[in-house]
Amino acid sequence: MRIVLVGPPGAGKGTQAAYLAKNLAIPHISTGDLFRANISQGTPLGVEAKSYMDAGNLVPDSVTIGMAEDRMEQPDAADGFLLDGFPRNLGQAEALDVYLKGRNLKLDAVLDLEVPEDEVVKRIAGRRICRKDSSHVFHAEYNKPKAEGVCDVCGGELYQRDDDREETVRKRLEVYHTETEPIIDYYKAQDLVVTIPALGKVAEVTQRAMSALENGE
Ligand code: AMP
Repeated sequence: MRIVLVGPPGAGKGTQAAYLAKNLAIPHISTGDLFRANISQGTPLGVEAKSYMDAGNLVPDSVTIGMAEDRMEQPDAADGFLLDGFPRNLGQAEALDVYLKGRNLKLDAVLDLEVPEDEVVKRIAGRRICRKDSSHVFHAEYNKPKAEGVCDVCGGELYQRDDDREETVRKRLEVYHTETEPIIDYYKAQDLVVTIPALGKVAEVTQRAMSALENGE
């Protein structure tokens, strides 16, 4: 299966993507994670991306599209993938269509995770992520780790992402509305969008998404 996951920052895309990819046995491709890996390795791409990310802006398409395509070319993605955070604007969505068409492939579904905006802000402000594995996500209030600052799953250090600070979050939400939301209509025109209410327990949301995919809704 080839699936795109969209939703505002804080909708739980990363968390859901990790579970869904595991259930569906396809790789989880997160452009945000790819950028963060480049930043921690100090690559030129990471240096360039960081300034945009810290400001809450999108990294330019000239960098992002090539990086996403390189990842989709890896052998583990030959039979499918779950894209988390890509595409994020119309230019990227069109580039993805061209990429897939050129290989005689198509998307199976676009899952739109829907969360009220005030909830998004609360979620992001308390979000703490494991340095060792970014799919291990905790919350300072709603999903506290057993020991403060330590990942329950693997013992990694928990930290707050630089771009999870309040000012940057507001900017990211604005960018989401102006640049990313239009791709939902773009994919609705292709009859690919399934809206998943993303409030409630993590496992319930995963279940909703899995049933939607299984029923081909
Ligand atoms: P995420 O981890 O998906 O929330 O992404 C974190 C940040 O990485 C975003 O706020 C952007 O600055 C950058 N980023 C991730 N994916 C993309 C993309 N597809 N296009 C442009 N920038 C991106």
